Amino acid sequence: MLKIGHEVVRPGKFRGDAPVTIPVPEELETVPGIPLNLREVDWYAREYPLETMNITERASRDWANTIRDGHTEMREIRKEHDKLNRPLIMAARLTGEQEPTADSTGEDVTELIKEKARDLGFLEVGITAYDHKYTYQSKKDWVKFPHVICLAYEQDFEPTQTIPSVDAEIVHSSTYRTEGAAGLELGRFINSLGYRAQVHSPNDNTGPYIPMFVEAGLGQLGACGYLLTPHEGSRCRLMMITTDAEITYDKPVDYGIHAFCQVCQVCVNRCPGRALMRDKIWWRGLEKNKLYFKRCRPVMARYLGCGICMKTCPIQKYGLQNTMEHYAETGQVLGKGTHDLEGYTLEGKGYFGPGELPVFDRGFFDMPHGDTEEWAFEQFKEKAKAAGGVITDELIEELREEVNRGLSQSRDNLEMMEEVDYI
Ligand code: SF4
Ligand code: SF4
Repeated sequence: MLKIGHEVVRPGKFRGDAPVTIPVPEELETVPGIPLNLREVDWYAREYPLETMNITERASRDWANTIRDGHTEMREIRKEHDKLNRPLIMAARLTGEQEPTADSTGEDVTELIKEKARDLGFLEVGITAYDHKYTYQSKKDWVKFPHVICLAYEQDFEPTQTIPSVDAEIVHSSTYRTEGAAGLELGRFINSLGYRAQVHSPNDNTGPYIPMFVEAGLGQLGACGYLLTPHEGSRCRLMMITTDAEITYDKPVDYGIHAFCQVCQVCVNRCPGRALMRDKIWWRGLEKNKLYFKRCRPVMARYLGCGICMKTCPIQKYGLQNTMEHYAETGQVLGKGTHDLEGYTLEGKGYFGPGELPVFDRGFFDMPHGDTEEWAFEQFKEKAKAAGGVITDELIEELREEVNRGLSQSRDNLEMMEEVDYI
């Protein structure tokens, strides 16, 4: 039995459930939240502000959508999701203008908001200061209020275990819609308490959410790039509400995850794209396992959104309490090396058990890069080079059309794909 350094007590999974106690072995203790160098976070936020990859990597996004639309079932699912989800996104965009519908009493409403969130089906709810350092440049002027309510909604267990699959993609998108509707209702509830509430749709992100979720004590960042929450690990969809309500902030927690991932490494070993880093690096002022985006996106595009790093995580499958208790008792990672945890099937490739990974052809990882305009110029240069440096009117016209297409593209983030933390 390992020596326990501290215990974390969290509310039970559902309202009325007894609280859960998570033992954190001493050897896994690091810091509450994530190791941070605030001066670096500040510097990067000023000099290299974050931007959504729906803009900066638009060329590969369009490419991936074309590939996914070649899958007949997925194309229909995506069309249906977009149709149903668009009104939720549009409604959320207007919530910042909504006036309160009652007078506030001036009392702290933290518990009222948290209880309502749980009644609406949110699994985790925590509150902290909204940190503008994590706002995308294109959304800089959008966020109005100083506090943020961080919300996580559970994605159903069974379909998630079939990742990557059509069933998992269906539950993935329907969870977003259910969550989006619940978030709008929570916003209206906050209005009824006498305060303003701006709902950030889970499909129209204002920035990378995870740092604020970690600050609000809802989990820690996993090696897979997802937030790992105590009850469901990465099997959650996240959204936020910013507000001017009278509330109390939560604090970051050391769940032991930051160190545990370095022992576990299951997602790193199972990733078909070899896209996850074994070791942590310092990136924009945070210590984390960084993702190789160029090795992830082609797999996500070709294999139903992939998500194998979510499916193979023991914390997703067994919960943090079971995983930590098992580690404390045995020094082993629960489920590691078993087909139950590590096995997966890739459509057209077959089944891969523990220790087995698919091999891809040369060219599998080739994809467009940069935003649409950058990629158009890149193609233009290649074609001009192939023509011996001769720039024809036809080439210029092609470039003009592509650049115009890029400039006129909507910047809506109606995108189900970017799940992994790409900051
Ligand atoms: S989603 Fe990306 S990082 Fe995760 S397992 Fe698939 S390829 Fe790897
Ligand atoms: S699979 Fe293991 S290494 Fe990967 S995120 Fe989960 S706990 Fe961390």
